[in-house]
Amino acid sequence: MDNIKALTFRNDELKLTDLKKPEPNNNEVLIEVSLAGICNTDLEIMSGMLGFTGIPGHEFVGKVVDDPRNKLSGKRVVGEVNIPCYNCERCRRRHFRHCLNIKALGMRGRDGAFAEYLTLPRENIHLVPETVSDREAVFVEPIAAAVEIAEQYHLKPSEEIAILGDGKLGLIIARTLKALGYSVLVIGRHESKLARLKSLKIPGYLERNLPKNIQDIPVVVEVTGSSSGLERALQLVRPEGKVIFKTTIARKIEVNLSILAIDEIQLLGSRCGPFPPALNLLKDNNFYLEELITDCYPLEKGPEALEKARDKVNLKVLLQP
Ligand SMILES: [Zn+2]
Ligand SMILES: [Zn+2]
Repeated sequence: MDNIKALTFRNDELKLTDLKKPEPNNNEVLIEVSLAGICNTDLEIMSGMLGFTGIPGHEFVGKVVDDPRNKLSGKRVVGEVNIPCYNCERCRRRHFRHCLNIKALGMRGRDGAFAEYLTLPRENIHLVPETVSDREAVFVEPIAAAVEIAEQYHLKPSEEIAILGDGKLGLIIARTLKALGYSVLVIGRHESKLARLKSLKIPGYLERNLPKNIQDIPVVVEVTGSSSGLERALQLVRPEGKVIFKTTIARKIEVNLSILAIDEIQLLGSRCGPFPPALNLLKDNNFYLEELITDCYPLEKGPEALEKARDKVNLKVLLQP
């Protein structure tokens, strides 16, 4: 029998396991994973958020090795994370991303990408343009999430956007919004991370010596991944401005929300986004993504890779099955 190697999360522990090779049903394809990215959501999942057990990982690029309908075999692909049921009340209203029975790759009810192989429904799959490398394509999921911020909340190109947080997602959102034509700046806590904005000519400021004129900002994207970020975002945004909240953490956040009423601020949440525009952006722009890759580990060293990803001084850690 064909066995595969995978990192499985169970009983608060991530372990290398031998599993049966997954088999695609008629609507799915089998993908050999070339690279997978570790994101903060994975780290939070492994701190107990969502109560997930199984194979984590939702950022990947790979090659289709089995397509029962044969169309995609041999193609280099990325895959969208959400798997709706197409049958519930919300799906019938075409609200697929909020399906009542939603499954999500490596997050909810579905084994993910920290494995040699995975299966996904055919409609989740997108071809990677030839000029986009694997080490770029593995970022498509967070880039898509950044595209969605602009799309779903109709941000105006004339409004300045401050990104609060210089972690990997913050630096990706900055790149994406800049490529979309917005004027962006990043506020962070690590000089070494803000330095990765220079190639793109995006201004980065250290929180501890923020110039006085950085205030009353029309749009603040909160992506600190910490429990204190929301309060800070609410101080930075101008009255009637928008705070877009991207932090997903397992623990609770305490914050006084009266300023929402007083300053008539819109507090908006955002999760994930469409892959086709993200792939287009990658094809047509240099995102300098190499600057965001801290390290790449074989699957066998999964726990070590996770430790590295958890360390706040590091950026994207990749796994290579
Ligand atoms: Zn992610
Ligand atoms: Zn549904």
